Amino acid sequence: MHDVVIIGSGCAGNTAAIYTARANLKPLVVLGHEPGGQLSITSLVENFPGFPEGVNGPDLVENMKKQAEAFGAEYMHGAVGEADLSKAPFRLNIDGEWRETRTLIIASGASARWLGLPNEQKLIGRGVSSCATCDGAFYRDRKIMVIGGGDSAMEEANFLTRFGSEVTLVHRRENFRASKIMLERARSNPKVKFLNNTVVEDVHDVGQNMVTAVRLHNLVTDQTWEQEVDGFFVAIGHIPNTKPFRGQLDLDDEGYIVTHGGARTNIPGVFHAGDVQDRNYRQAITAAGAGCMAAIEVERYLEAEGH
Ligand code: NAP
Repeated sequence: MHDVVIIGSGCAGNTAAIYTARANLKPLVVLGHEPGGQLSITSLVENFPGFPEGVNGPDLVENMKKQAEAFGAEYMHGAVGEADLSKAPFRLNIDGEWRETRTLIIASGASARWLGLPNEQKLIGRGVSSCATCDGAFYRDRKIMVIGGGDSAMEEANFLTRFGSEVTLVHRRENFRASKIMLERARSNPKVKFLNNTVVEDVHDVGQNMVTAVRLHNLVTDQTWEQEVDGFFVAIGHIPNTKPFRGQLDLDDEGYIVTHGGARTNIPGVFHAGDVQDRNYRQAITAAGAGCMAAIEVERYLEAEGH
């Protein structure tokens, strides 16, 4: 029986692990399908406080893990496939093995949705990115492309005009899902060029280990062409990792956990931290803060329950 299990090993999960381990609760951290979370697929992080020169994303998250382990946190490979939150202790099926815990911190994050292009995954962190705030500054005076037709794509395209020499927004349809105000903002930005009814067929160049161009296809004219680009930002939404909790936790239409204040979910003893609940800020520092909040809630809950 664990006092606390933390699902996810990104900024939120690791920070929750540092705090609960330091409170002597011996947390078990389930690493998940994407160990280290979104930070593990970025390069330089320039906006995490305390690092005036910036810090390498994978190093930052690995250091957090080491810090938690130094206080006694245990990490295990695997992912939660099934959960029974109907009563305490909660039961979790981790790669076929059931574990019991008095409290649970869900920090399983939201995975960026990718296009599924043949070379896309090979060039992540080499010009392919899912986060303009994280990586935009690397493309000063370079050619940037943003994919998507929702608010995220509009926001990212506008934001990236601060850096890029030009920003091309590629959307697969004529009409946009984005709200009118966000779309108008992007449309009235002279640095944003729109390519509607267009899909990306692939991104190059794996041989050079960097993004140099994309192959585009206009679905109306059937024209296919290559276009030079340096930064390729995919902004087609995120998928919150809440599948094992459907029907048990309060989730919104898109599957994000609905907060019941602080780090609380609708189930006492089950807490949320980071992007699995936060569709708004999605930053390393906000996730870390949320992990801290969840850990403090766990301590208070266990104390109140007499453990
Ligand atoms: P979204 O609204 O779901 O939009 C996703 C976009 O990506 C859609 O235009 C969709 O095209 C496109 N897309 C999806 N899969 C694709 C694929 N395989 N290939 C090409 N295009 C693909 O996601 P979002 O923009 O991330 O927004 C998510 C939520 O956060 C929304 O509720 C949004 O309002 C909110 N948000 C708000 C703000 C803000 O207010 N500041 C900023 C960002 C996000 P189709 O339209 O053709 O399906």
